[in-house]
Amino acid sequence: MKPDATRAQLAAVLKTIESRGLKTDVMHGEFQNVIGIIGDEKKIDFQQLASLPGVYDTVRIQVPYRLMSRTYIPNDVVVKVGNVSIGGDNPPVYISGPCSIESYDQLYRIARQVKEAGAHILRGGAFKPRSSVHSFQGLGVEGLKHLRAVGKDLGIPTITEIRSESDVETVARYTDVLQIGARNMYNQDLIEKAAKTGKPIFFKRGFSAQIDEYLGFAERIVAKGNKKIILCERGVNPLGGPFKNQTRFMMDLNAIPVIRKETPFPIIADPSHGTGRKDLVFPMSRASIAAGAHGLMIEVHDRPQEALSDAAQAIEPEELARIIKACDRLFRALSEPSA
Ligand code: PEP
Ligand code: MN
Repeated sequence: MKPDATRAQLAAVLKTIESRGLKTDVMHGEFQNVIGIIGDEKKIDFQQLASLPGVYDTVRIQVPYRLMSRTYIPNDVVVKVGNVSIGGDNPPVYISGPCSIESYDQLYRIARQVKEAGAHILRGGAFKPRSSVHSFQGLGVEGLKHLRAVGKDLGIPTITEIRSESDVETVARYTDVLQIGARNMYNQDLIEKAAKTGKPIFFKRGFSAQIDEYLGFAERIVAKGNKKIILCERGVNPLGGPFKNQTRFMMDLNAIPVIRKETPFPIIADPSHGTGRKDLVFPMSRASIAAGAHGLMIEVHDRPQEALSDAAQAIEPEELARIIKACDRLFRALSEPSA
């Protein structure tokens, strides 16, 4: 819309778009309002739209993630979780805790130590997506209760994965952030239902997903009116070859600057799942921050040999403290004007 467009003109344009069966999203900027169209834009004539009073211009954005694109939202989006600000120029945010919640005691012990190490958000899986039906599947609602209790006791916001559509409302009652895992990146009903809770959504990239495909599915969250999206690069399947058995996945570091260019939403890196190896978490944490990640998700266990899931990639709390120190220093160095 033109900077001097009136409210009535904005309302008239919205009405025109909506009368074609399309939905709208309005970005209220400091100087002008921008309207995003949700749905099949072939239903509307852009030239005719451009001629309506108060309209400045109409632009067709070709990518499948229009509402998430820099063309539509030029400035970085900062997502708030409690007092934690994720994205933009904010210092890195650290999300840490065990892969799985195993008991109140286990979670409390680990949570206390990751908080002490400098983590801002506590993670822990209750509904685990596992490749084998014979592996530990998580404590379910009992685990959610531990997560909420520990988060409250220690005053730290929490995140946990939501695996099934039928659990969305339950999980949303227990946690601050809903995680959608790599295996569910294509699950559009789950994505849309989770988005509708209005909670921040931590949305992991599927391990075989192209970046535009990934952002296209994230777009469904915005299309449901939820702009609290935190993206996460967690490693992709390598094409094969000799490195296949050496790391669990291949961290796609390219994805971090590409995603920052394409979209203003925050991007977190997960070097725990990305490497599958505790000895690689530190170097790949540094690499991710250097590439521009807005933070890290890192799995920690105080007794890694006893961990019920992802034991090989679990680092101890002392290592997390070293990683956070190093990454904060790196971030400060990179933020200096000369860097
Ligand atoms: C997890 O965070 O524990 C997890 C299962 O991650 P991903 O979906 O990336 O495999
Ligand atoms: Mn895990």
